Amino acid sequence: MKLDFRAERVLAVVAHPDDAELFCAGTLARAKKDGATIGICVLCQGDKGQSTEPVKNLARIRRDEMAASAESLSAELFLGGEADGTLADTPAQRLKLVEIFRRFKPSLVLAHSPEDYHPDHRAASQLAEAASWFCASRGHRTKSPALKSPPALWWMDTMSMHGFTPGFYVDVSEFVNVKTQMLACHQSQLRRGKDADFSPLAELMRVQFRARGLQARVEAAEAFRAHLAFKRARAW
Ligand SMILES: [Zn+2]
Repeated sequence: MKLDFRAERVLAVVAHPDDAELFCAGTLARAKKDGATIGICVLCQGDKGQSTEPVKNLARIRRDEMAASAESLSAELFLGGEADGTLADTPAQRLKLVEIFRRFKPSLVLAHSPEDYHPDHRAASQLAEAASWFCASRGHRTKSPALKSPPALWWMDTMSMHGFTPGFYVDVSEFVNVKTQMLACHQSQLRRGKDADFSPLAELMRVQFRARGLQARVEAAEAFRAHLAFKRARAW
């Protein structure tokens, strides 16, 4: 069986500006090469990702970093605009994401795993799951009309693979450079690698795609699990 993203519209829904790079950028790049349309939705501003040498206007700097990274995939970028640490599965935040789904019309959503370590990631996971259902429910009104059917949803790997049981792997061996270049756009965070309380992101990411690759017998891989809920599973 061959994975083919050609006819897909793939939307990554993440909490922070550099999360798509860490967990799914290789898959987005592979989908792009197949001919898919790519979107990245970042729900938080990244305003609290400060290093020991604080940066003024960090949210603005991170907006520019996100834009540069998304541009390298010609991905459409959507911003939720919530402050870091305030993301929560509330009716208002759901509706905001429902409208983003209705504008982009994803056939496949990639979202943080429900067992992720970070509270914002877990909130993003809940929001993505709720919005991916309600975007196809006409009773939940937003500016744009409801979608015909809910998109498929894949949970992404967790940071350092903690507590995540992969359902399948995507071979991203060809796309390691794109993934690395996209992460390199986030200089405000890569600088934090020198802080004693922050892990060097580029190294963490490299170790993870190599380890997942080793498990799947390829050079580099990203791990996912399909959300096989009612009406979400696809028959092949
Ligand atoms: Zn994050």
